Amino acid sequence: MDRKTRLRQSGLSCTRWRYNILKILKDSHLPLTSKDIYKMLPTPKPNLATVYRNLNRLVEKKLVRCVTLGERARYYELIQPDTHKHRIICKTCGQIEAFEPVGCDLKSFEKLIKEKFNFKVEEHSLEFFGTCPKCQSFHSQR
Ligand SMILES: [Zn+2]
Ligand SMILES: [Zn+2]
Repeated sequence: MDRKTRLRQSGLSCTRWRYNILKILKDSHLPLTSKDIYKMLPTPKPNLATVYRNLNRLVEKKLVRCVTLGERARYYELIQPDTHKHRIICKTCGQIEAFEPVGCDLKSFEKLIKEKFNFKVEEHSLEFFGTCPKCQSFHSQR
């Protein structure tokens, strides 16, 4: 489904900014902060408040998901029904990597959650925290 159709189906008019924000998020394989998105928007740029407002609308309409990674800023990512990603976050420098797990199997967890809370899981987001190669070699040099 293209971006214009997704916007219309969500009852949002396809403004230039919404269209561009969706495009930026689609092209990025990592979640982005509102500031990252702002920097990537074509000129003439809207003001930052406009970017926030549009992001909030897209989150409300479930086209975009807002994720908090560690103690750092809020990140935004496009909701794509058929893909999901796991993330690796460096606790030292905050670098994020994302990967699409091959045959992610969290079925046993989902079963457990269903049994324990009678909760039907529809999706999950998984983050691993640790130290990236750069930060590891920095520490071992000292
Ligand atoms: Zn690092
Ligand atoms: Zn998974």
